[in-house]
Amino acid sequence: MTTLLVTHPDCIRHDPGSGHPESPGRLSAVLKALEEFQGLVRREAPLGSETDIARVHGDDFMKAVLAQVPQSGRAALDPDTIVSPASGQAALRAIGAVTAAVDAVVTGQARNGFCAVRPPGHHAEPDRVMGFCLFNSIAIAARHAQAVHNLKRVAIIDFDVHHGNGTQTVVEQDPSLFFASSHQFPFYPGTGAANETGIGNVVNAPLPAGTGGAAFRRTFEARILPALDQFAPDLLLVSAGFDAHRADPLAGLELEEPDFAWVTARLTEAARRHAGGRLVSVLEGGYDLRALASSAGAHVQSLMAAH
Ligand SMILES: [Zn+2]
Repeated sequence: MTTLLVTHPDCIRHDPGSGHPESPGRLSAVLKALEEFQGLVRREAPLGSETDIARVHGDDFMKAVLAQVPQSGRAALDPDTIVSPASGQAALRAIGAVTAAVDAVVTGQARNGFCAVRPPGHHAEPDRVMGFCLFNSIAIAARHAQAVHNLKRVAIIDFDVHHGNGTQTVVEQDPSLFFASSHQFPFYPGTGAANETGIGNVVNAPLPAGTGGAAFRRTFEARILPALDQFAPDLLLVSAGFDAHRADPLAGLELEEPDFAWVTARLTEAARRHAGGRLVSVLEGGYDLRALASSAGAHVQSLMAAH
């Protein structure tokens, strides 16, 4: 059993402009860090299907977003979320990556998988693009797993430094889904307080600025991992943002590479206990190129060690 790496060159062509932190160079840095990994099975992402996107966002919203992608130049869908001519294809490849990775993992072609894609997804609400995100890839992956593979219970863990507000919106009224997030708080996007618990299927672990690896690990051990065990998912999905790294210019947590390796190992163990090891992660944030590359490397190394 293997670890998949799913990506596509189209995801590098999405270009929000020089000076925008969500730069094409992010994905290039991640892929370069993974270049030498022996035994990683590489797969090119297909285009995501409209059916998959519409399960979360609806047909009209999906078409409206894609229609705003410009033929030339750039368009600001909101003050943070800038699209270029290649952005529509990039977004569709991101969706294709997560759904293909779910297909591979659920059908036993791979044990787990990492989707190195952009734009990220976890801020995208069902009816609103937000925070560099067009479509909510991780929520779309969860719905795909349920609709296409008939999985009953899907858990999403989000360790990006920002709260996954869009994912929470999709999950919070649905007992077949579970969402847990560690994030800096108070911070963008403003949601993710500990008292936001959905119907008992949402765990928010807000962390004050300056929190380091030890407190991060304690939070996972005390709050997130026990709740995940109790939920007992058939599939584990991970919003893997690396902007909680101490070098990240956008945020103020103090994690380091071993912390990302640690949390990934704990999540692969939970996946093994409940879901036959089935785990799919997708790149969200991470804006210091060197820290992003080495942290994603630590994450993938932990995924590969899970076999
Ligand atoms: Zn983030």
